[in-house]
Parts: sequence; structure tokens; C-alpha cells
Amino acid sequence: NNNELNGTIVKALAGFYYVQPEIRQEQPIQCRARGIFKKRGESPLVGDRVVYSLTDNGEGTVEQILPRSSELIRPPVANIELAVLVFSVTEPELNFQLLDKFLVHIEHAGLDTVICLSKSDLASAEGKEGESAREALRRVRAVYEPLGYEVFETSSRLSEGCDPLQQRLNHRLSVFAGQSGVGKSSLLNALVPGLTLETNAISNRLGRGKHTTRHVELIETGIGGFVADTPGFSQLDFEELGIEDLSYCFREMRELSPSCKFRGCTHDHEPGCAVLDALEAGEVDAGRHAHYLAFMEEMKEKKRRY
Ligand code: GDP
Ligand code: ZN
Repeated sequence: NNNELNGTIVKALAGFYYVQPEIRQEQPIQCRARGIFKKRGESPLVGDRVVYSLTDNGEGTVEQILPRSSELIRPPVANIELAVLVFSVTEPELNFQLLDKFLVHIEHAGLDTVICLSKSDLASAEGKEGESAREALRRVRAVYEPLGYEVFETSSRLSEGCDPLQQRLNHRLSVFAGQSGVGKSSLLNALVPGLTLETNAISNRLGRGKHTTRHVELIETGIGGFVADTPGFSQLDFEELGIEDLSYCFREMRELSPSCKFRGCTHDHEPGCAVLDALEAGEVDAGRHAHYLAFMEEMKEKKRRY
């Protein structure tokens, strides 16, 4: 059937799916999904690559959803290939526990990730703010780079450091994650030519109400790249993580655990634990280990309650 075409869902709204054709075309095509999806309990997601057909009125029908490489539950986006974790060097102060939490979920989902330290201009400020910014930069480079995480420093204010990150976004679907106020919108505006997302939005400052509608949309970044605009989402929720999976989501523990004396070692109190030995020797970061124990405690607590 030569009416069948390929595209990517860039927006979902009120029962319509907006499909950006793979072959260059200015406008996404407004589509309905075939009824069969609903019957099967499936629903198309933003990010889905689909086969669609054109109807007589210039609209389209989503005929088929191609297999997904990943599926994020909240925000609901399929086929994300890269997570950009945005943390400001200060204002707000860098929350390392949240950074480790993001990394755990990303490791579990098997996604590619980079850490972006935003507002790098504040590191040259005088006084306490500047000092805490410089300490945050130092700590991220010292702890996360040796684990193999790529670190970018950007200043949207000075338009510095944006080019290398922009290169990273080409040919793939990326999602930006981070607390509100870290400068995600400003950064996206600096990275994507012509984009004018609202920054420092009042809804951000007041915290988005639960009645606020959340529409995820894909923005084209240039050569074949898309970035998901995910207003109101400051976390990434993938498939549920089991307690037994947790230590594997810390790269240093994944590497060391085969040397632990006991199989299924939780790296908490066990004798002959390679992780605890490395911690003692200062080779495993104490902050990361403390976050690991805190997450484990959180997961146990949750399990007790349900
Ligand atoms: P979002 O909530 O993560 O989308 O953050 P916004 O992009 O709305 O920015 C939050 C605040 O940080 C705004 O007041 C911005 O002006 C400020 N901001 C954003 N980027 C930078 C930067 O590179 N340097 C400095 N100094 N401030 C920035
Ligand atoms: Zn161990």
C-alpha cells in the first residue's frame, strides 16, 4: 500500500496524535489511532515510531506502532535514547542524592546519559554562592567522571558550553530531567535555534498544581534530533525497580560485587565485602554509598507499607 508512511509521534492531545513524517515535510499530520489499539489495551505514546496512512481529508490514521527501544512511564515518552540530567552548580544547590537517584533509574533502563552542570557562570561569583558552585563542579568531576559519566558545563546566560551538548543531541531522542529552577528551559532555548520556551514560569515557582495539564511534546533540535519538552515533570519513572537490582545500578558496585565474599552481598555490613573495603580505602565515594543505603531503606519501607 503506497499510502503507508513512516513517522514519529511528536504530540498527543485530545485523542489526536501528531505525526512528523520521516520524509521532510513542514507540518506534523493530525492522526487518529486505529480502534484496534484500544481493544488490545495499547496506546500510542509520544516518541513512538509509527506507520500511518493518509485519509482523504488530509488527516491520517496511525496503523502500526513499531517496537519500542525504551518506555518511560512518567513523563510518558517512548524510545528515549539519551537522558540529559540538568543540575545547576548553585541556585538551587546541587542535590547529589537526586543526581544518584536519576542515575539509578537510568542505569536500570539501560539508557545513555550525560550530566549537564548548568549556570556555570555562577562559579565565578564572589562569596558563598561562588564557593559552593566551584565545590559542586569539583565534586562532580572527581566522583562521576571516573565512573564513566560524561559531564558538560553550560551557561545559558553567557551562551557558553552549549555547542558540545548540542552535538550530543543530534540523531536521537533526548529527555532533559532536573528540578525546576535549574535552568532546563533556558538551556533548551539556547540549544535549539528559534525555540522560545517560557522560563522562570510562575507555575514553576509556585509548584505546578495537580490540575495543570501536562503535555509532552517533542521539539526538533536539528539533524534528525528530538528533545522531549516535559513541563511539570522533574523526575523520571521507568519500570519498577526491585531491591535486588539496586546495587547493580551503581556502576562501582556492579564492578566490585563479584569480589564480595557472599553472593547477594548488600554491601552494608557483610564481612569480606569488596565495596566496603573500597569505601574504607576511599576508592568508593562515601556520599554515593550513603545514598545507596538510603535508597535501599526507602525501598524496604515502601515494601512494608504495601
Ligand atoms: P527550569 O525551571 O529548569 O526550566 O529553569 P528556567 O530555565 O526557567 O530558569 C530558572 C531561573 O534560572 C531563571 O531565573 C533563569 O534566569 C535562571 N538561569 C537559567 N539559566 C541560567 C544561567 O545559565 N546562568 C544564570 N546565572 N542563571 C540562569
Ligand atoms: Zn559487598
